[in-house]
Amino acid sequence: MKEIKTGGIYKIRLLLNNEDDDVLNNNNCDGSGPHSINPEVRVLPTGGDSNAILCFTCFLRELQFRKQRNKELSKESQFKLPSWESLKKYAYL
Ligand SMILES: [Zn+2]
Repeated sequence: MKEIKTGGIYKIRLLLNNEDDDVLNNNNCDGSGPHSINPEVRVLPTGGDSNAILCFTCFLRELQFRKQRNKELSKESQFKLPSWESLKKYAYL
């Protein structure tokens, strides 16, 4: 299991604990899955200098988490909610 430095994704993984039920593997995605059929991954900034590399489905799950958390956070500490289109495509080495 890859360690993720973002609260959102890590918590979702703990809640679902569904790694065995993934419909597809995506070795490039930092999310817990299930992943998108489209293997494309993009770079989501997670604060500071860190990023999460996510497929579209895991990105949507993270955004859902952020929207939920933002209801409990003061305006200054709220998560950003970028669009998928605005994220940089992850460049494979
Ligand atoms: Zn994914």
